Amino acid sequence: MFYEKPHSCNYWVTHRCDSKCVYCNVWRNPSLYDIPDAKFEDVKTNLIDLKKLGIKFVDFTGGEPLLNRELPKILKFARELGFFIQLTNNGSIYPQVAEEIKNSVSQLSFSLDTLDPDEYKKIRGIDNFENVIKSIKIAKDLKQNIVIICTVTDNNINNVPEIVEFCKNKKITVFIHPVFKYFDKKTLNKEYVKQIKKYFWHPFVRVDLSDLKYYLDGGNNIKKPSCKAGKSVFAITPDNCLFVPCFHKVLQNVEINGNLYALYHSEKWKQLYADAGKYDFCQGCNLPCYLGASPLDKIDRYFFQEILSYFKVLAERHRKSKITLSTFYTLQQFYQLLHPSLTPLSVLLNPLKA
Ligand code: SF4
Ligand code: SF4
Repeated sequence: MFYEKPHSCNYWVTHRCDSKCVYCNVWRNPSLYDIPDAKFEDVKTNLIDLKKLGIKFVDFTGGEPLLNRELPKILKFARELGFFIQLTNNGSIYPQVAEEIKNSVSQLSFSLDTLDPDEYKKIRGIDNFENVIKSIKIAKDLKQNIVIICTVTDNNINNVPEIVEFCKNKKITVFIHPVFKYFDKKTLNKEYVKQIKKYFWHPFVRVDLSDLKYYLDGGNNIKKPSCKAGKSVFAITPDNCLFVPCFHKVLQNVEINGNLYALYHSEKWKQLYADAGKYDFCQGCNLPCYLGASPLDKIDRYFFQEILSYFKVLAERHRKSKITLSTFYTLQQFYQLLHPSLTPLSVLLNPLKA
């Protein structure tokens, strides 16, 4: 291990969702239906602790996160604490809260895997295509930093060129990634993964080369785990618990009770996450959310792909911004995101500072 320090948190604010995507298990799991949404006071306490722990990046997710009516308040508070905030949503509710959250989100992501309304309905289980397009327009008018998330399966790989064209015309970024393995679900054909890779240099496209390499290498190896669950990437449940070891394979929910900071520094935490990435079910897991959000987190075989992908992210963000204050704001946000991982390099280069 070179350097592992908390840098990002995937925060589930609700398990409820108004979509029924073919590749998702959330809506298929009845045990999640009765779990209450995250409460502002709990999230507030946890965000303060996340900040103290050095976390820079918080991804508010779900379910459809905007179904949690307290989310605008939560986002505002998180923004005040200076986090880089990602909100990924399906566009069904966004128009109702767009104005309210416009200054609170660093990156606003919309899921969109096709430009055909009928196919959209087949993939996502709801008739929501027009809402997403409307949401993208509203977000663009509000000058939000928009990213379209295009999840590629064997069935929609042919849609990628038109989605890339659509985003290029609208001058918004599309993040193309393969559907990840949900244990029982089919993964993307490796030839198609290689096709995605070819989009890396396209303008307005983001492709994470390290995720693709991880995918092509067969995912996590339990003898030499790449998974960072509980080490640098945390996952918090709507009912104020930690998912252990991760959301996608929950062995236990550990109550936080306002003690996230103390819990992280306890022996219990080490025990809880000691085997993350080493369980039998972790073999071949290719969930990118636990791979890395910080390129220098760990010097491993994904290092150069991570660095290159981060520079491309930076280039795409810069392409969208004019040379205005927002450019500096964006760069500052990226500096904040990268900062914890830059520290060890500075220590290496200048041992007197250590
Ligand atoms: S919108 Fe997200 S959480 Fe809801 S069903 Fe689709 S993938 Fe799952
Ligand atoms: S490798 Fe294991 S612990 Fe890590 S994300 Fe995958 S299933 Fe979860």
